Amino acid sequence: MALAIALELRLRGAEVTVLSRNRSDAAAYAAAGMLAPQAEKLDAGPMQELCLRSRELYGSWAAKLEALTGLDTGYWASGILNPMYEQPAFAVATAEQATVVRKPEPPFKKSLEEQAPAEWLGPEAIRHRQPGLGSDVVGGWWFPRDAQVDNRRQLVTALQAAVKQTGVDWREGVTVTGIKREGKREGKREGKRVTAIATNQGNITADQYVLAAGAWSGALLDLPVFPRKGQLLSVQAPVGQGQLYAKQPLNQVLFGDRIYIVPRRDGLIVIGATSEDVEFTPGNTPAGLKQLLTEAIRLYPPLKDFPIVETWWGYRPGTPDELPILGPSELENLAIATGHYRNGILLAPITAQLIADWVLQRKTDPLLPAFRWDRFIV
Ligand SMILES: Cc1cc2nc3c(=O)[nH]c(=O)nc-3n(C[C@H](O)[C@H](O)[C@H](O)COP(=O)(O)OP(=O)(O)OC[C@H]3O[C@@H](n4cnc5c(N)ncnc54)[C@H](O)[C@@H]3O)c2cc1C
Repeated sequence: MALAIALELRLRGAEVTVLSRNRSDAAAYAAAGMLAPQAEKLDAGPMQELCLRSRELYGSWAAKLEALTGLDTGYWASGILNPMYEQPAFAVATAEQATVVRKPEPPFKKSLEEQAPAEWLGPEAIRHRQPGLGSDVVGGWWFPRDAQVDNRRQLVTALQAAVKQTGVDWREGVTVTGIKREGKREGKREGKRVTAIATNQGNITADQYVLAAGAWSGALLDLPVFPRKGQLLSVQAPVGQGQLYAKQPLNQVLFGDRIYIVPRRDGLIVIGATSEDVEFTPGNTPAGLKQLLTEAIRLYPPLKDFPIVETWWGYRPGTPDELPILGPSELENLAIATGHYRNGILLAPITAQLIADWVLQRKTDPLLPAFRWDRFIV
């Protein structure tokens, strides 16, 4: 997130420094890269709107990064299929045939139908869209506007190249140890300001600061942000001349029950993810990988024979209401961009835009107040 914000600020003319302890720790590098406001079935409200707006921005944001750097981001407007193992209540079957005879209400408000189309596919239609699905699949939703990006191999690399190329001072290996602030003036909250950032390489000062430290943000500011660990793995479909498949056999992301399967164009398939409340306990576990493999094979049996490429894990930045914390803080020259939980890859373009608006112009998007830091204070 820090890189997306830094780039946006830089492109609007600001001098920007990024302090980064270890870029490979970042959830941005671990994530599956789904751009899935619809498959995530977010409740109607500001978060759904924020996510849909960010999804709308993605194509042009990725194109901008690609134009700046000459690097591919792996953005793929593949759509997301949401297969189900149980016929939902709306699926009324006739006595003669077990197919859906009534189109259900999409899981979205009427006003969003155009922006967020959703189609229910019965057992045959879903297999037509994606051959090879497991025999337990009875149908599912098709979300044609949901998409994906290859964050791990491409997007993060392109973002890093873009910030370097545009002249952001990116300091890798710098650990922030504290936020130094002016003494609080009696009765004047607005008097509180950041005076410097303490790091393992000395103090650093600026006019404006942005906290975007992911799951670790709570260590630097009093915010209810905590890690929610996710384990993933990838397999490689045998693709190409003389191989089993001429191209990637998955035509789109499969977003199942407790599992998602994310194909990349070159035949790689990312499988994720667990959701574990284990603080910052590192490593892949036998139980975690077993869960992923069992669920993935049930949903898409052909992958049981594909070679495993890699296993890894990361920490989602969670908050008590699962919404991000965005915008001003109680320190007048510090903005916050954290707590993006399961949707931080999706939310990168809109976050960069809204935070840059706030930092440079004190402009508040109508959506921003819903994500204020002080909503947790009772
Ligand atoms: C398993 C998994 C799957 C996911 N799948 C998806 C998905 O499909 N789609 C989606 O949209 N989102 C997904 N996410 C969520 C997404 O990855 C996160 O919401 C997003 O990356 C958060 O971005 P961030 O910049 O806030 O945190 P991070 O990406 O974690 O970056 C934080 C950075 O801050 C640095 N840092 C922390 N503390 C300090 C310090 N004291 N000093 C200096 N640097 C510091 C860290 O080293 C790190 O590099 C997934 C996450 C996980 C873990």
